[in-house]
Amino acid sequence: MEREIREYALDIGFDDVGFTTADPFPQLTQALEERKSGYSWVSEGLLQLAYVADPHYVLPSAKSIVVLIYDYFKQAYPPELLNSIGKAYQSRLYPGKKRLFGSRLRLIKDYLQEKKMEVGVRPAMPERQAAIRAGVGTFGCNTFFYSPGRGSYVGIVALAVSGELEPQMQEASSRCPDDCRCCIEACPTGALYEPYKMDPLRCIAFNTYGPGNFPGAPDDIPLDIREKMGSWIYGCDLCQDACSRNKKRLQQKLVPDAFLKEMAPKLAPTVLLNMDDRYYHETIQPVLYGYMWEKKFMQRNAAIALGNSKDEMVVSLLGKAMEDPQEMVRAYSAWALGRIGRAKCFKVLEKALGREDRAPVKKEIRLALDSL
Ligand code: SF4
Ligand code: SF4
Repeated sequence: MEREIREYALDIGFDDVGFTTADPFPQLTQALEERKSGYSWVSEGLLQLAYVADPHYVLPSAKSIVVLIYDYFKQAYPPELLNSIGKAYQSRLYPGKKRLFGSRLRLIKDYLQEKKMEVGVRPAMPERQAAIRAGVGTFGCNTFFYSPGRGSYVGIVALAVSGELEPQMQEASSRCPDDCRCCIEACPTGALYEPYKMDPLRCIAFNTYGPGNFPGAPDDIPLDIREKMGSWIYGCDLCQDACSRNKKRLQQKLVPDAFLKEMAPKLAPTVLLNMDDRYYHETIQPVLYGYMWEKKFMQRNAAIALGNSKDEMVVSLLGKAMEDPQEMVRAYSAWALGRIGRAKCFKVLEKALGREDRAPVKKEIRLALDSL
């Protein structure tokens, strides 16, 4: 049975397969308990602490976990999207009906069900921990999962199943060189504060989609993080791109991804900042689905990236965004104008202050004016 599942999964495009028991992951519960303040949306909101550490919450009859690894770095990413949108988010690893990855998930689920197994799927599955226990890879100090020969640019799917499958008992420890600290040094916010420990509240990736969005997460992106977000608008790859375990993958010569090449100009922050609802729903959301549930978050992040560009040419775009119906877009556009800090930003901000009636936006405008 294990061999048949493996062959089918490889046939439909997964790159590696592993099996482990459906036993809970007490070390995950413990880690989340110890760092509860940083994971409030897990312990109180979205997923609930107990859910993420015990596969039986996904499937009460679970006996095994099937782990599927998908290598998403098989084609070259457009250079203009690097340092803007994380490779995982560009890769559309979403369960949507009209997407390839979603179709693969449905195929493997159907296949397992045909084998008379009940199947429980994510979101509430401890995917990285399951993959480690299934012996298909190791953790890096940057907390990412590494697949042998593929590095960390891989997606993991962990399916709880009711069938009894032979577990692979070859859990491996990290293969990070003892003296390597490249990922910690590459992290601009200090989110990676020691090997294998990351504070999500300081992580750029989390800040692009968590604040104001996830129940239990902070409402706003802290001021010092906004500056350090640089040009990132969705995700962050810096601690993976700096990693020696990914070096070979990053140096490989790949054929450009034709779809992303066409999409790249449509994903520029100058375009996203003032996009209308139709553009978001028809062009952006189907591609960058995931945690970005509302247009305003993408606009907010575009405003931050444009502010960090310090490019005087984008002041008029930010001026237009100061008239956006969303308070969040106006507030972060005010911050961006202050960050650019040119004389013409002052005029735009003064004018906006005159017509603004929302206190949080007024506060951001005043802060921006004070900084000029
Ligand atoms: S994803 Fe970016 S911000 Fe987050 S830990 Fe890695 S380098 Fe730091
Ligand atoms: S940069 Fe070095 S320490 Fe960090 S994950 Fe890669 S090999 Fe490990």
